[in-house]
Amino acid sequence: MATRTPPQAVVFDWGGTLTPYHDVDLLDLWRVAADVLAPEQAPELADALAAAERAWWESAVATGRSGTTADVVAAAVASTGIPVDVALHDAALTAHLQAWSPHTVTDPEAGPVLRALRKRGLRLGLLSNTHWPRAWHESWLARDGVLDLLDARIYTSELATLKPHAPAFRAILAALRIGDPTAAVFVGDRPYDDIYGAQAMGMRAVLRPNAVVPAYDVRPDARISRLSDLLPLVDGWLNDRGTPR
Ligand SMILES: [Mg+2]
Repeated sequence: MATRTPPQAVVFDWGGTLTPYHDVDLLDLWRVAADVLAPEQAPELADALAAAERAWWESAVATGRSGTTADVVAAAVASTGIPVDVALHDAALTAHLQAWSPHTVTDPEAGPVLRALRKRGLRLGLLSNTHWPRAWHESWLARDGVLDLLDARIYTSELATLKPHAPAFRAILAALRIGDPTAAVFVGDRPYDDIYGAQAMGMRAVLRPNAVVPAYDVRPDARISRLSDLLPLVDGWLNDRGTPR
């Protein structure tokens, strides 16, 4: 019977996993971008930006095709026909992501848990489904003192596909130099993107349940209610060498 390798790496999702889930008003957060792009028609453009982001996520989930926030802004601007100076796009994106910043605070348990996992000799990674640029994610992680605790960080805005598709998982496993996916544990809050996707690769998958995300018929290897629950779980797997799966 096949055996699972003891864990050599733990890979985390970001939103709802390393950060508490925030149910934010996306229209408010897009309004600041619309104010930069077209102050006179900001409400109409904010609606278009929020709609373009919803459409982008729907398409990304359905097709697996990734993209960037710049794609979302360009699609929204094109859909309204409002004349906008393309040179303002970067400033609008900055305003939007600045408005997001207060909602990106890392779970206070993350730092201690990541340090404790590193002490066990485990390599740590981040794999986030996102259209945001790496620089913003990394500034938030650095602000909260956890950036350097994550040996490799993959953002799907830099890839062709998102979770749950295999290339996204392969990218983080390669970055962590993990040749055997069964030696990696994935921790996430989305049953489809995270748990189904990681298990399809052969990884152990730990669910941090989130009532707001879509359900999916999948059975995680374990559930945690807080990040610190990971430590006894991983210790069990580290000590459980050669157990039949
Ligand atoms: Mg998530």
